[in-house]
Amino acid sequence: MEIKTKILVIYTGGTIGMVQDEQTGTLQPLDFKNIYQQIPILHSYELQIDFHSFDPLIDSSNVQPPFWIKLASVIEDNYKKYHGFVVLHGTDTMAFTASALSYMLENLNKPIILTGSQLPLGVTRSDGRQNIINSIEIASSYSKGLPVVPEVAICFENNLLRGNRTYKFNAENFKAFLSGNYPHLAEVGVHIKYNENYIIKPSYQRLRVYKNLDSNVVILKIFPGISENIVNSILNAEGLKGVILETYGAGNAPTDSWFINQLEAAIDKGMLILNVTQCKQGSVEMGRYETSAELDRIGIIGGYDITVESALTKMMFVLGSGLLREEQIKLLQTSLRGEMTID
Ligand code: ASP
Repeated sequence: MEIKTKILVIYTGGTIGMVQDEQTGTLQPLDFKNIYQQIPILHSYELQIDFHSFDPLIDSSNVQPPFWIKLASVIEDNYKKYHGFVVLHGTDTMAFTASALSYMLENLNKPIILTGSQLPLGVTRSDGRQNIINSIEIASSYSKGLPVVPEVAICFENNLLRGNRTYKFNAENFKAFLSGNYPHLAEVGVHIKYNENYIIKPSYQRLRVYKNLDSNVVILKIFPGISENIVNSILNAEGLKGVILETYGAGNAPTDSWFINQLEAAIDKGMLILNVTQCKQGSVEMGRYETSAELDRIGIIGGYDITVESALTKMMFVLGSGLLREEQIKLLQTSLRGEMTID
């Protein structure tokens, strides 16, 4: 007897399933019972599509690390039973969730495809229906017994992007996500064209799920006019362990001595500071300009071309690893899940 490909659709909330509240007029997540009820055409697939709904459903603006742990646990608990997973998620923090999941799930050998929509499923022109259908096809795509996309990816508006390379760039257009520093994993047209050379190869090792995330982190975005007392209060915030320093261009920052001294003092206290560019394309190159050479000298870690979303969740993952500081620095300098390009 032929074994049916099994897909688990995990519904967490987001616009895709929202309805308008009659009294307030705001969009709120709707509790629907199964995906066939929403998209009956899915019956025509030779697949078994099961449905798992989060309780409560949330607007993704309310996502916090415990939500990622819950999501990773649902995947872990069902990992052996399903060939692939589709996660329905709000778009606002989807790039953060995709990045966090990529770090939490090591040795992935099954597709985890996140999708959502700009318009709710119930709306005639909704992009959600197509996004779900594309995601299910991709999550169930196997070749010679191996998953075609054994990674955490975002499928949106006919593009498949590596999750930890992605950011939301448009609040309105159906094309809402970009991956500035990495090619698309697939393009959906008449056929789904996979860019096999850019997709991570399946792992033959056992899945490991990491559930310790340390959120004692901050994103410090520099700007002309940034003031000493504000930087001082951020870097001295109680419990702070990791800083994502969003710098200019190729990783450049002011050379004012108060700024460099404060960063150096924070590093001396044991803080991890990762240098990430504010640009959406290109890479940090510490030491290329005089304005980044100082950062290099005091022990700031270069984040290459990692996105801010990916850097933040990686920092939480690394700080939660319980490893020694030197090993944590090494992890930040290594591309763990294809999140950075290191020449
Ligand atoms: N606020 C919604 C959310 O992120 C927006 C969306 O889904 O597109 O949950």
